[in-house]
Order: sequence, then structure tokens, then C-alpha cells
Amino acid sequence: MQRVISMHYTLTDPKGVTLDSSIGGEPLTYMEEAGQIIPGLESEVKKLKKGDKKKIDVAPEQAYGLRNEQLMVPVPREQFPKQDIKVGDQFMAGQEQASQPVRVAAVSDTHVTIDANHPLAGVPLTFDIELIDVREATAEELSHGHVHGAGGHHH
Ligand code: ZN
Repeated sequence: MQRVISMHYTLTDPKGVTLDSSIGGEPLTYMEEAGQIIPGLESEVKKLKKGDKKKIDVAPEQAYGLRNEQLMVPVPREQFPKQDIKVGDQFMAGQEQASQPVRVAAVSDTHVTIDANHPLAGVPLTFDIELIDVREATAEELSHGHVHGAGGHHH
């Protein structure tokens, strides 16, 4: 049985810094087994039922993956249209269709090192969750591969 889950969550990093939270807004709604949330979180929520609260630790391998140092690329400064570039800046890189977000990891007199890793790659994550609602996915949702109605598609 594939379920539709609605849950509130607060995501923190190992320092206890809140990275994201649904508290005060709409709960996150997703269909199980549809690859809509990170695997390490989905596999734990599968064991829970409506009303359950849990703190779930997710290793990077089960979240946004490990960092790949091949994705740290030094680029000559003259290839950048603007010169006031600083560490932490984000922009889109690559050709239009294949462009992806990258961050500036380091700046020297001659080069800018860009980091194309996901910002949460290599970061162990902690989710504090509460299952607000759990129901069976409808046949139509299963055939579409996504949730309909509140928190999902309207079409
Ligand atoms: Zn649909």
C-alpha cells in the first residue's frame, strides 16, 4: 500500500541550526515510494502512523549524498563578467538547459573556485517530524505518480 503523508518537519544541521521548517506554514505532503523526499527520511516515516512524532537522524549517504571534490572547479577570474565576487555567492552555471546552481567556495587574485555540490552534500541531517495526516493514495494518484488535492497537484 502506498500512502500519502502530510507532516510537519523541522530540519537541523549537526550544530543545531535550523535549515528549514514547515512549522507555521503548510505541512509537507508527499506520496510514498515516488522518490519525492530523501530516502533516509522516507524509510523511517514508513514505520510511523498518523499522530506520531519522531526525531530522525539521516546520514549524508541517505540524504543529499557525499561531497564530490571533483565538483570544486577553479575558474580564471576573467571568465566572470563581474569582479566583485565573494565566498558564498550563488549563481547558475553551464548551458541553459543543463545549468545548475553553484556557489563560490574560494576567491584568489587570479581564480574563483566554484562548488557545484548540493549545499547539503556531506551534511548529516536531523528531522523533527509529526505526522499530521496519513491516507491511502488513490488509484488516480498512483497512476499519475503524485498527490492530488491539498499539498499536491490541482488539475
Ligand atoms: Zn495528477
